[in-house]
Amino acid sequence: MSVDRRQFLFFLGASARAMALSAVPGCTATATVAGNSRSKMEFVPGENGPFELPPLPYDYDALEPYIDAETMRFHHDKHHAGYTRNLNSAISSYPELQEKSAEELLRNIESIPEEIRKTVRQNGGGYVNHKMFWEIMSPDGGGVPTGAIAAAIDDRFGSFEAFKEEFETAGKTRFGSGWAWLVLKDGNLEVINTLNQNSPLMDGNYPIMGNDVWEHAYYLKYRNDRGEYLRQWWNVVNWEEIDRRYEMAIA
Ligand code: MN
Repeated sequence: MSVDRRQFLFFLGASARAMALSAVPGCTATATVAGNSRSKMEFVPGENGPFELPPLPYDYDALEPYIDAETMRFHHDKHHAGYTRNLNSAISSYPELQEKSAEELLRNIESIPEEIRKTVRQNGGGYVNHKMFWEIMSPDGGGVPTGAIAAAIDDRFGSFEAFKEEFETAGKTRFGSGWAWLVLKDGNLEVINTLNQNSPLMDGNYPIMGNDVWEHAYYLKYRNDRGEYLRQWWNVVNWEEIDRRYEMAIA
């Protein structure tokens, strides 16, 4: 952090709020904007705000041959970046919403002001869904589930193979754009799909894992064969992270 920025934050009053904001890299404190003195954080619509695009946890080509580098580059740098930018822009005039996590915004989607609700649904959903998506994939992924999630899948679906089939069907039968999910619903595992960027959080369910079945996720490599993409995707699934999400959800 620059000395100027540190001093600026000090003069904000050294409140907990200021300290919290200083930890948000996408949020730029600007004392003077276009010649006007400002005494609060300046959110430039579409440029910055409380939500930051997380970096990919691996290289663009790390998931090859199952997901190609060009798809990853556009998916992260263009699509996910766009959702992030649009979410920040949507809430730029709502300081009370800037205090909340993106997950909180989605859990309370019906209480978001109507004039921005659709934008928050689409872009907040896109922001949170993709944050999870990068983390539940890994170049060291694939294989079979481990830990508590492995036993829970066997209990609920009979076998890992049966679960995979149900999950792939959820992805194939999502007409148009959306996601296939394994969610925790009322304490039970369920396979569902959602339209567009709708998050299971919007229905009070917890997303344990999800696969993006928008064409932007697979079309460069798999063209119109969504089924083949869904089958190959298991090769990059990060069961360690999915087990962590499951254990957190049931805790
Ligand atoms: Mn996507």
